[in-house]
Amino acid sequence: MLRNKLPELELIENIKEKISSFSKVEIIGESQEENLRLPIYKITFGNPDPAAPVLGLVGGVHGLERIGSQVCLALLHSLSQLYLWDDSVKKNLEKIRVFFIPTINPIGILKKRRSNPNGVDIMRNAPTEADNNVPFLLGGQRISNKLPWFRGYRLEAETKALIDAVQKEIDQSKVSIVVDFHSGFGFQDQIWFPYAKSKEPIQDISYVHSLTNLMNITYPNHFYQIGPQAYLTHGDVWDYLYDWNKKRKSSGLFLPLCLEMGSWMWVKKNPMQIFSVEGAYNPVKTHRYKRALRRHNTFFEFLMRSLYSSQSWVDLTEEQLQRHQRQAMELWYGRKK
Ligand SMILES: [Zn+2]
Repeated sequence: MLRNKLPELELIENIKEKISSFSKVEIIGESQEENLRLPIYKITFGNPDPAAPVLGLVGGVHGLERIGSQVCLALLHSLSQLYLWDDSVKKNLEKIRVFFIPTINPIGILKKRRSNPNGVDIMRNAPTEADNNVPFLLGGQRISNKLPWFRGYRLEAETKALIDAVQKEIDQSKVSIVVDFHSGFGFQDQIWFPYAKSKEPIQDISYVHSLTNLMNITYPNHFYQIGPQAYLTHGDVWDYLYDWNKKRKSSGLFLPLCLEMGSWMWVKKNPMQIFSVEGAYNPVKTHRYKRALRRHNTFFEFLMRSLYSSQSWVDLTEEQLQRHQRQAMELWYGRKK
């Protein structure tokens, strides 16, 4: 097997032995381009009970947005270290499960490409159709795999690995959240929730509001802008998984979130970096890079705590649910009811 060196994969391979006594490292798929094959890793900590609350972190869907993969790895590193000495983290993981898929598109990361080796955009590849007019090209296209946002014609290996792994994790879980790390859109860090296929709210919008409201109250100075995905697209993997979960009988609550790190602020402060392939999507200056890597620690901690104490935002009375529903519609969909 020919292996090109990918630092992100080497990091996982180096840490593997050290964390083997308290985590599970699996290969959930493989990405292939000619004779180059790279594994897709999943690392899981915590309670193996299928019904346990689950937190998932995904990175590297768009290979070019390398910082997403690296943020995921930085959080994986910290959690591994905390597990060794912090009893409160250990206690948390007795109840919940946390999994990482930091490099879903390893060849894309290696070759500095958004798409997978077949030129397919993984976030346009799921079998979902948008119900309105999507933006030309950006919304997903089947004109050519030489153009960005190509949807492909079948489920790609990387997309399938991601869908299968998430389905397996959330299958019996009563409450689960997945965060998918991206970069490149806007000046601010944004947290997006589905749908990408529609401007209509998801059925669980009241829970999105109750979770993010809890974050706003707890961390009033956080810097995220929270809202539904900013533009319509076909084939969004999180739309697909959300609907899949919703269609099943007795499914738990599943909220997929995308964290879009605002790379325009890095470009604004260092305009020359727009001319490098990676520069438009990743911080180039060391201090900004380090800041990006540590920036989401609080969010990660908040999510772990909110899954440990999920009753605080999930077990709501009918009246509370209706209030969250109303506030969500006003805040995000401009509707008063
Ligand atoms: Zn992206």
